[in-house]
Amino acid sequence: KIVVAGSINMDLVLRCTQFPKPGTTIVAQSYNEISGGKGANQAVSAAKVGAQVSMLGRVGDDAFADRLTGSLKEHGVDCSHVLTTPNCESGLALIMLDQTGQNSIVFVEGANGRFTPEDARQLRNVIESSDVVLLQLEIPLETVQEVVQIAKAANVRVILDPAPVPDDLPSALLQVDLICPNEYEAEQLTGIAIDSPEQALAAAQSLHSKGARHVVITLGGLGSFLFDESGGRMIPAFSTNVVDTTAAGDAFAGALAVHWAQHGNLDDAVRFGNAAGAIAASRMGAQPSMGTRSEIERLWES
Ligand code: ADP
Repeated sequence: KIVVAGSINMDLVLRCTQFPKPGTTIVAQSYNEISGGKGANQAVSAAKVGAQVSMLGRVGDDAFADRLTGSLKEHGVDCSHVLTTPNCESGLALIMLDQTGQNSIVFVEGANGRFTPEDARQLRNVIESSDVVLLQLEIPLETVQEVVQIAKAANVRVILDPAPVPDDLPSALLQVDLICPNEYEAEQLTGIAIDSPEQALAAAQSLHSKGARHVVITLGGLGSFLFDESGGRMIPAFSTNVVDTTAAGDAFAGALAVHWAQHGNLDDAVRFGNAAGAIAASRMGAQPSMGTRSEIERLWES
């Protein structure tokens, strides 16, 4: 059983020929509402590969709330521990895309910001009864820290996807079983820009020395760099026809968590995560773009 404690957002995606300048009005080419949030996306990824998944988090009492939990349930995620914050909006992101593919994003934390350490304590039993807890940083850091503490005290494995990296990340949060930043987040955390396997090794060693037992740095189309007590190694990506890399990292984290919980071999779990990331990159969208277990296994065996 996997528990994901994290964000649940609606992404409002506007395609425009250009961004509006201050004081001007422009007409959008298209508008879409897409269920997202790193927490919710990773929960969907884990559920699609067949795990029993419980989502912990908060939505508001607006019209998006039911659609956000509806999308999670549709993909098989248990939402009985998703709490509702009265008089509050659900988390949302207003995303403008221009013709060149650049984006400009305004994020509203909404109910995600109301998910408190006290909520985590109330959900202690759910956390303690899971095999793996999967966390990101789109909810208050104190809450992430509380979940980590509860999980550790119960010997539950903790995976942290440290995204987005805040300025003031408490060092205790790096002391987890596995940390899985992408290359930019790894640079923010260590100050080491990653352009080569040597730099990936140095960044991973730095995170390991700060207390992360295992480190995986995802490197987009190159794959992932894995580091643990037996050293560092590249786990190459699967080649794919890239359509939209949105949520590739979330697909990766969810699938890796499930495989690691079920089989215990991290090299294989990273390979499985790479296959899940490649499938998500080969399709449009976030949650619907993620692969099922059989799709991922087919790519793995190809
Ligand atoms: P994020 O979305 O967090 O930036 P990455 O872009 O590093 O994360 O993607 C996560 C994983 O998904 C990578 O480690 C890789 O295995 C897979 N992936 C991402 N982009 C591609 C791609 N273009 N081709 C193949 N696999 C990819």
